[in-house]
Amino acid sequence: MNKLIVSIIVLLLILLALGLGYRFFNDDLNKIEEIKEDIPVIEEIIEPTIEPEPTVEPEKTINTDMFYDLDSILILVNKKHDLPSDYEPSDLVKPNVKSNKSGLSLRQEAALAIEEMFNKALEDDITLVLGSSYRSYSYQSKLYNNYVAKDGEEKANKYSAKPGQSEHQTGLAADISDASGANYLKQSFKDTPEGIWLKDNAHNFGFILRYPEGKEEITGYMFEPWHFRYVGIEEATKIYNSNLTFEEYYNILD
Ligand SMILES: [Zn+2]
Repeated sequence: MNKLIVSIIVLLLILLALGLGYRFFNDDLNKIEEIKEDIPVIEEIIEPTIEPEPTVEPEKTINTDMFYDLDSILILVNKKHDLPSDYEPSDLVKPNVKSNKSGLSLRQEAALAIEEMFNKALEDDITLVLGSSYRSYSYQSKLYNNYVAKDGEEKANKYSAKPGQSEHQTGLAADISDASGANYLKQSFKDTPEGIWLKDNAHNFGFILRYPEGKEEITGYMFEPWHFRYVGIEEATKIYNSNLTFEEYYNILD
């Protein structure tokens, strides 16, 4: 009987051991579950899609002050933008070029440029003649009043600037004649060798044809194939290549 009792005790011990083992095992499982719950949920990291920058035409980064600064070679003068009656450029000089009257002057930079232009034209057998350059406010007043007396105000306004509204007061504008003078201040100048040469070459010396054909509504003036405005070679070349007027190119229409 002793053997039977020992066997039962051993069996009970085995069962007890199995039971305890199961319990410990279960506790471990619970602990693992708890640990799992403590692990922060790492959300899926979505890499942001990098969109390419949209292509935008760069804004012209021109400082518009230069159109309203009296000393700037890009000064804007037209029927909406007047010069003060007492404005006279401080650096007027007489260019050493052929002219049809004495005492003509331009701002220094424009004077040097027109000398170079006239000399280069001569190399191409083109003789240019300077007809008008700087005009004071008071001289423009006399001219304008004479034109009004002769043709009436409406007609005069189409071809003559009111005092303060003439580019000639800037010392940066030149009216240029053919050698004979037969086409001076006439639309026929555009078909002369001189007019054609100027149209094609003036920008290389910093001058633009300021009042082009077909742009009367924008410039406020009729086509003047003889009137050239100095703006510097770089700007003149850009304006020439754009086929736009000064006002259109810089978007300064108001
Ligand atoms: Zn002119």
